[in-house]
Amino acid sequence: MIYMDNAATTRMSERAFEAMRPFFMEQYANAAGTYSFANASKEAVETARGQIARVIGAKPAEIYFTCGGTESDNWALKGVAQAYAAKGKHIIISAIEHHAILHSAQALEKQGWDVTVMPVDETGMVSAEAIDAAIRPDTVLVSIMAANNEIGTIQPLAAIGEVCKKHGVLFHTDAVQAFAHIPLNVDEMHIDLLSASGHKFHGPKGVGFLYVRKGVKLVPFMDGGAQEKKRRAGTTNVAGIVGMGAAAEEAAANMEETMAKVSAIRDHMIARIEKEIPYCRLNGHRTERLPGNVNFCFRFIEGEGMLMLLDAHGICASSGSACTSGSLDPSHVLLAIGLPHEIAHGSLRMTLSEATTMEEADKAVDALLEIIPRLRSMSPLYEDFVRKQA
Ligand code: PLP
Repeated sequence: MIYMDNAATTRMSERAFEAMRPFFMEQYANAAGTYSFANASKEAVETARGQIARVIGAKPAEIYFTCGGTESDNWALKGVAQAYAAKGKHIIISAIEHHAILHSAQALEKQGWDVTVMPVDETGMVSAEAIDAAIRPDTVLVSIMAANNEIGTIQPLAAIGEVCKKHGVLFHTDAVQAFAHIPLNVDEMHIDLLSASGHKFHGPKGVGFLYVRKGVKLVPFMDGGAQEKKRRAGTTNVAGIVGMGAAAEEAAANMEETMAKVSAIRDHMIARIEKEIPYCRLNGHRTERLPGNVNFCFRFIEGEGMLMLLDAHGICASSGSACTSGSLDPSHVLLAIGLPHEIAHGSLRMTLSEATTMEEADKAVDALLEIIPRLRSMSPLYEDFVRKQA
């Protein structure tokens, strides 16, 4: 099996898994316990808070544990909106945000909020100047993702943060795909809130965090206990948090090396595909791109067909095209970068990790060299195109 769907989820780091193990069978105390048996749980959670804070230059007290990226995104938008409604009811997001942001913004719209959706250019880049122009006196929050989950484009966070700071507007970033993969610093980039999720960087599933800059108001998302300084109720997921902390520390320690290794394999795949497969298009930015992201559209082909044949070769990948997501439309991201429907339908995303080898990358491209002509040979559109070319 060749696993190339690391943007969907990652294999757990062995070290993170081992760090979690004692918190299931031995140190299973509730971190809120008042007896000394609970001390190990409490201490382990605080160690993880520190491990995570260090990766983004935050203070440990500014990290709030959640159950994942979706919760963190929902909380950031809805929690800030509720807390700052007296200032105004306008937020700004981008057209290529994850559904956790898009649908949260739509929920706010139903409650009378005005949402400006910033367009992106053909590489998936948001313009900081355009955000500058879109901010109004009643703008409360700008939420722009750090890096896109489909096409891998990395946004100009420092420039956007600068603009938000100048206007006194809060800046949230969905860093689910970026945290522990590329350098991020909440002070240098003027980020006030940041979402991330453990399973995207070799930590466990079902645990994430929201960074909230000291002084930023946020209405709690859930009612219940007094955990996380009364801001996030629910029994602390000790093992999950420990695993996420260990994974974050490990990924951050190896970040430079991993980025160099993974992006070399990415660039090799991109170069081979562009050279060896006609009528393809690289989606996303060529250089401002997540190290592990390869995303192409292949003309005259349905993404689904490619995925099925890749699966038969033992290759796990994904597509932003129709049907796989249960919808007839191609993904909003591919449409936002200006792709016509018929081209967007032929998209393929292969996302790598530090475990991906050059040999696997070559095997995946070799599989495409066989699959794509085969699918095109069955396409009436391709037949028509070839006839017209002749
Ligand atoms: N935001 C982005 C950019 C993502 O890629 C994802 C997951 O794919 C999420 C949010 C949701 O994260 P989670 O799976 O932890 O709920």
